[in-house]
Amino acid sequence: MASKSQTDFSNFVNGLERRNPHENEFVQAVREVAHSVFPLIDSDADYRSAKILERMTEPDRVISFRVSWEDDERNIRVNRAWRVQFNRAIGPYKGGLRFHKSVNQSILKFLGFEQTFKNSLTGLPMGGAKGGSNFNPKGKSAREVMRFCQSFMSELFRHIGSDADVPAGDIGVGAREIGFLFGQYTRLTNEFEGALTGKGLSYGGSPVRKEATGYGAIYFLQCMLAKQDEALEGKRVAISGAGNVALFAAERGLQEGAKVITLSDSGGFIHCKSGLDEEALDAIKTLKLEKRGRLSELSERWKGVEYFDGKAPWGVECDVAAPCATQNELDGDAARTLIDNGLRVVVEGANMPSTDEAIQCFRDEGIVFGPGKAANAGGVAVSGFEQSQNAARLRWSRDDVNARLKSLMQSIHRKCAEEMERDEGIDYVDAANRAGFRKVADAMLAYGVV
Ligand code: NDP
Repeated sequence: MASKSQTDFSNFVNGLERRNPHENEFVQAVREVAHSVFPLIDSDADYRSAKILERMTEPDRVISFRVSWEDDERNIRVNRAWRVQFNRAIGPYKGGLRFHKSVNQSILKFLGFEQTFKNSLTGLPMGGAKGGSNFNPKGKSAREVMRFCQSFMSELFRHIGSDADVPAGDIGVGAREIGFLFGQYTRLTNEFEGALTGKGLSYGGSPVRKEATGYGAIYFLQCMLAKQDEALEGKRVAISGAGNVALFAAERGLQEGAKVITLSDSGGFIHCKSGLDEEALDAIKTLKLEKRGRLSELSERWKGVEYFDGKAPWGVECDVAAPCATQNELDGDAARTLIDNGLRVVVEGANMPSTDEAIQCFRDEGIVFGPGKAANAGGVAVSGFEQSQNAARLRWSRDDVNARLKSLMQSIHRKCAEEMERDEGIDYVDAANRAGFRKVADAMLAYGVV
């Protein structure tokens, strides 16, 4: 960056921090995008005079509400909830709901901001949003989760709709929760419409939605490897997480010939040097997605699978790291250890799982790094396909959706590659940010000052 531009960037970041005190995750996400797109803004008087970046970094609106519900012992419980409708320039708001004890406004603003660029990259007409609650689903009975979801939707329903805002799942919100939420939505509105995605197949869901983020991350990884004249077959892939994204990344990785050597949950990680087989993975899927159990329960069950309590998987030897659990789960120390152990490629299945310091380490060492914004866009893409199927009142086949997903991930990779050809000094992080930015910025310019 030229020195005048560097000063403008510093001023922008200072203002951002002043306007958003205590919102570290949000500031982290915006700083990264601003760094990537500042050269574009610098060279475009229209973007500068329209204050595009300043407008893009303020959410359209943040809805904050109380969720009161009754637990099984008839105690009254109160949680906080939000829907951050970040940017509607290129389509109705779209983005997941997260139920986790750590949820706060900063995390949802960072996720809604990131979602805007990710959705733009898909090429589908979707704006950016995110929502959720500090409700902790761990240890709650199914009836408690149902009562919470019904109370949550009793407020949220007035803010969403198939042409307004279409939520989906995220951490702590899977098929069961979407069922409870959608059931309450149709009850309150008397309408059966595609106001949520990630629905069950018997009531308007799309084939491949639950697998889409993990599968998509593997398709993106294959594109990155192909650009290096390499293939996934035989590569040792360390995956973190054991939820929707991680388990289906593992499934697709296995199908494509990779050795999936780790998975983790918030208790610890499992390591299998020779790579998990399908039987073990199926059992883990049942344990985590159906029984809601802990990976620690698996120890000693399969020969060659070791469990490490209280640790993340970043100390193992691997070719590819795929962080698929949560934000800032891979820090500078973890990055250095991975690099020392032979890491060559990172593909982010989670949103912002690598800290700024980790990304800097990867950049310094020439590690090929696929940011979540591009690599995990498969989930929202198939959500977009679900909306299309709902609007047309039809269902595409599993093979059809999977083929469309693969082709969409390839097109995101192509957009990144084109940006990298345009400016040889940039990597996938800058490329994804710039490609996502252009479309949203141009739509905002077209609307005038709104
Ligand atoms: P799930 O709730 O299905 O799974 C999350 C997994 O990560 C669980 O195994 C969980 O452990 C683990 N985890 C969560 N928080 C922590 C933490 N603080 N420390 C250690 N482990 C943790 O969520 P998803 O798989 O849906 O989402 C994972 C990531 O992918 C998130 O960043 C999400 O935003 C992103 N993403 C998800 C999409 C989707 O379609 N679902 C789309 C795009 C991005 P435990 O089992 O112990 O709770």
